[in-house]
Amino acid sequence: MSKARVGVAELGNPILRVQAEKVVSFAGSGAETSRLLYIVEQMREVMQDRDGVGIAAPQIGISQQILIIASRPNERYPEAPFIEPVVMINPIINSKSSQTEKGWEGCLSVPGIRGYVSRAVQVNVSFVDMDGAPQCWGLEGFPARIFLHEYDHLIGLTFLDRIDSVADLISENELAKR
Ligand SMILES: [Zn+2]
Repeated sequence: MSKARVGVAELGNPILRVQAEKVVSFAGSGAETSRLLYIVEQMREVMQDRDGVGIAAPQIGISQQILIIASRPNERYPEAPFIEPVVMINPIINSKSSQTEKGWEGCLSVPGIRGYVSRAVQVNVSFVDMDGAPQCWGLEGFPARIFLHEYDHLIGLTFLDRIDSVADLISENELAKR
């Protein structure tokens, strides 16, 4: 069984450093709809393939404001809570808690490295779903962390830009020994 593998943009790829474009076409215009479905399908595939709990379109080389949050326990994140995967298009942060929490993050675009990153504990977001319908969600804890991490990819940032100190970086192999 061979499956075409979609490449993941890794650190140093300029696409990870630019503001992603807004998605403007949803249902109605057939070709655009199937393009969106195709992008999301590829994102899902890469995420599942690599045990990610979230992914953003720029990570597969598409500079558009699309992210997926799919928290579930797996080998890379054994403590992750299960939530139904959700696709968020053109997400906006409406508010976030001033209370922050530090937690380990990894990234498919930063292979082999984890960072101990401070993030807001709670975040309120607006986005458009796959059908083009506006949604408002509150996220807390790990799902909020995933959102903020993926959202950063849409504005040209990675978790490396969010760490307080390089002392908060560790290799995945070293983390596994702990
Ligand atoms: Zn990432």
